[in-house]
Amino acid sequence: MDRSILDLPFYGPEHRQLSDAIFDWASTAMPHVDHHDTDNACRQLVAALGKAGFLRYAVPAAYGGALAELDSRSLCIARETLAYHDGLADFAFAMQGLGTGAITLSGSEEIKRHVLPKVAAGEWISAFALTEPLAGSDVGAMSCEARLEGDHYVINGEKTWISNGGIADVYCLFARTGEAPGTRGISAFVVYPDMPGFEVAERLDTIAPHPLARLRFTDMKVPVANRLGAPGEGFKVAMRTLDIFRASVAAAALGFARRALDEALNHARQRPMFGHTLADFQLTQAKLGDMATDIEAAALLTARAAWRRDVQKLPTTREAAMAKMTATENAQRVIDAAVQIHGGQGVRIGVMVESLYREIRALRIYEGATEVQKLIVARELLK
Ligand SMILES: Cc1cc2nc3c(=O)[nH]c(=O)nc-3n(C[C@H](O)[C@H](O)[C@H](O)COP(=O)(O)OP(=O)(O)OC[C@H]3O[C@@H](n4cnc5c(N)ncnc54)[C@H](O)[C@@H]3O)c2cc1C
Repeated sequence: MDRSILDLPFYGPEHRQLSDAIFDWASTAMPHVDHHDTDNACRQLVAALGKAGFLRYAVPAAYGGALAELDSRSLCIARETLAYHDGLADFAFAMQGLGTGAITLSGSEEIKRHVLPKVAAGEWISAFALTEPLAGSDVGAMSCEARLEGDHYVINGEKTWISNGGIADVYCLFARTGEAPGTRGISAFVVYPDMPGFEVAERLDTIAPHPLARLRFTDMKVPVANRLGAPGEGFKVAMRTLDIFRASVAAAALGFARRALDEALNHARQRPMFGHTLADFQLTQAKLGDMATDIEAAALLTARAAWRRDVQKLPTTREAAMAKMTATENAQRVIDAAVQIHGGQGVRIGVMVESLYREIRALRIYEGATEVQKLIVARELLK
């Protein structure tokens, strides 16, 4: 895996050290899990990542984390490296941060102390529950309702496409509290799967298996103390959480793309053809040139977004959107080219580029589809 981008001034020596440590761990010590048994595979990976200390990058130091504040560049390095080795390992890592981001940003001291150390240690699995069957890109159409009754809220409604749904120990849930219409009437809550009224309505299978579920809440009582942030501020909490993690989706796409390029290079060098190797032909070389350039362009946008947040402490809405859409779209092209270079082997089940081809697809959809990222960039330009 080409890690030369770490020599650029976007990164410090601590990032190179983290990259070395996680690359070494993923190459030699990461458990080989049965991907068909997705729930157990995910549990095993979370436990192993916790034991190895890497989940400490998903929470702040005061609650068992590695650094005083979440560092976007470290999250990106971890995700890129894990995605290069195993998409499910990247997923297991990413969700520990995304699932608790709202707690880190807006949770009470008591909730932070209760949840974050267990998530950092890999003892608990976390989830982020925003999307609904009729409210995906259009978050403001959310209908899951939280009604205030004395010292608790009563929650009714559904969430879908929830990563870690069905196996998570803690969920950050967003529901309509009605202070104002649209996105201004939503609040965030921390909820637990043993709360009466919490139900896993359906498990969802996808082309690249990850634990996913549709959840249903029926008269679920949630103490007011479980609210994250002020009433009506939930959309802001969700967007601030996604802003931190959006660049890391780009990084995961980069990990998949870098692996595809390495697989393509190996195959092209070895495949005998017409008395030469596949790599000797200029049509192949042009593909490889395009693939490498697509990857580096995306890597630079990703590094900029993460660095701007970490070092300049500036909003990264525009930069992270550019990075996410470019990295995921470029990775799809790179992986498709790698499949093509592999010929029939490229579509054979179990061959690395075949699994990358399935893994990359959802990244162009979740945490804001490409079309939504374009609109975000345009909105920032037109402000
Ligand atoms: C594998 C996976 C994991 C996920 N994990 C989670 C999770 O953990 N938590 C969670 O809350 N959600 C999760 N999601 C949900 C994800 O965020 C949504 O799928 C995504 O926001 C899109 O919503 P949707 O599926 O309802 O599609 P829709 O919103 O129906 O979008 C359909 C299409 O319309 C396009 N579109 C949107 N706006 C416009 C527009 N203005 N003009 C033209 N076209 C537009 C979209 O880009 C998309 O191509 C996950 C999804 C997947 C696939």
